[in-house]
Order: sequence, then C-alpha cells, then structure tokens
Amino acid sequence: MKQGHRISWSEASSAFTCPKKAEYSYDAGLRPVVAAPALEYGTAIHEALAHMLIEDSWSDDCLAEAKHAFTAIFREAREKGMEASGRYSLEDLEKMGLIHLEQFHAWAKGLQVRTLGVELYLTRRIEKGLVYSGQIDWVYSYRQWGRRIVVIVDHKTPARAYSDAFIANDGQLTGYQFLMEGDEAKERIPELEGATLMVGYNQFIKRKPGSTRANAKGPEHVPPSPVSRSVEQMEEFITFVKAANQLRRMPGFRFAGHGFAAHCDMCDFRELCITGEMPDTLVAKQKAA
Ligand code: SF4
Repeated sequence: MKQGHRISWSEASSAFTCPKKAEYSYDAGLRPVVAAPALEYGTAIHEALAHMLIEDSWSDDCLAEAKHAFTAIFREAREKGMEASGRYSLEDLEKMGLIHLEQFHAWAKGLQVRTLGVELYLTRRIEKGLVYSGQIDWVYSYRQWGRRIVVIVDHKTPARAYSDAFIANDGQLTGYQFLMEGDEAKERIPELEGATLMVGYNQFIKRKPGSTRANAKGPEHVPPSPVSRSVEQMEEFITFVKAANQLRRMPGFRFAGHGFAAHCDMCDFRELCITGEMPDTLVAKQKAA
C-alpha cells in the first residue's frame, strides 16, 4: 500500500526556515558527524529518563540504574573524542546530569505519577497523502480534584528556563496533543478515555554545579506546569503543517538562493550550500527503506 508523506514538527518548521535544509536532513539523511556536548548531554538525559520512566517504580534502585545509564552514555561520547565547548566542562556536564536525575526522581516519587508512555511514536492522518508523526518523550497521568489528567511531556535541557508564553504556544507540543487526540493514541492508551489532556515541558536547566556566584543555584529541575491547547491552536497547527508540506515540495524552493542569509550562519549545511561540496563534518545516515 502506498504510504502518504509523513511530516513531523521538526521537519515542518525546518521547511519554513529553509526548504533546502529540510531536503538535506530529511531526504538525504545528512547529519553532523562531530559530537556536540550539549547534544550528547541531552541524549544521555533522555536515555536515562526513559530507563527510569519505563520502570515506573520510583525506587532507589531505579534511580541508581538511570544514573548508571547516563554516565555510561556520556562517557562513551567522551571516549569517541567529544571535546568541551561552550561554558561547561565535560566534568560539569556529567555532575549536572546526575544532580538532575536525583531532582527529577524526588519530584516524581513525591507526586506518585503514573507513566502511560515513554518515547511514544504516534501518527495521525491530516489529509490524503499527508500523515503527521511525532515521538513523545513521556506521557503520565495523575488525579486532581477528582479529574484524571494526562500530561504530554517534552524533556528539555536548556541553559535557562523557557517562558510560560513560549511553552503555551509551542507548535511541537500542539502537534503532540493533536497526535494524542487521534484514533491511534486512543487505541493504544485506554486511560485517555474521559481524561483531560495537557501539555508541558519537563526542564532540566543547566547551571554550573558548585558555582560560588551569588545568583547561581546550580542545576535545577523545573517540572511541567501543563496547559491545554485550544481548538484555534489546533486549527492553526494543521494549517501550518499543510503549508510547510506544500512549500517543501515546490521545485523552486529546492535550490537555496540565500546561502548568506542570517539563518545560514549557524547552519550545519552552510559549506555544502556555498561550495556544493560535502564537508567532512557531515555524514549521510542510512535511510529506512
Ligand atoms: S546554509 Fe542556509 S540555505 Fe543552506 S541549508 Fe542551511 S539555512 Fe538553508
């Protein structure tokens, strides 16, 4: 059976920033080959959390295993030659990760949250030939004032807290709620029946551990303070995804005519755009058949 085009939030937003970038990333499967500490840190935190959340027990053993998983992933990246960049040393990042896991564990244990899904991959058809897809970091439930709340969570590892306004309007979270309201989610998660759906960020704010600066509190876990998406937000989201899909498929946009525009400065594909040659910092990942 012929499958429709699958589009995720990162692909849709990348198509709007630069259709050429979406083509490199999603059609050619190109990725940066140099390990960036911030990225590896985020990956190690996500993996360690998944480890803890799948168990759903909040025992001390579970915390110890998650910490072990974090250290193993982060050290493996170091052994492959990852070097410090930015404001934190690799030792700082390793300490921060372990502190974050302890803080998160204490919060989740206190609330006795119940995990309904971890790294949950869902799809939902938008129209013929266009399927939206996403992988949700974590879905949990708890009871409040007699209601069952189901919270859709994205883990973040920022250098400072996101504003409430940003979280309230983030398209990626809107996409996650859209997926959780679809038939596939309802079939896979019976607890959704009659529950109130909310979305939020689970933030692991990076700050240097042991800093003596008066305003430095060290690493901080900010638990989700979830909000629900309105009907208008859902409609805007669907319009955006449809438009991004059309834009990306227009032949004229496949050639970058703006290789020196502001958004190109930090782009991993800049050299390829400018010289037309594949730099050794990029690698093509094997694409799924
Ligand atoms: S360098 Fe600029 S034009 Fe090229 S892919 Fe990146 S953002 Fe697009």
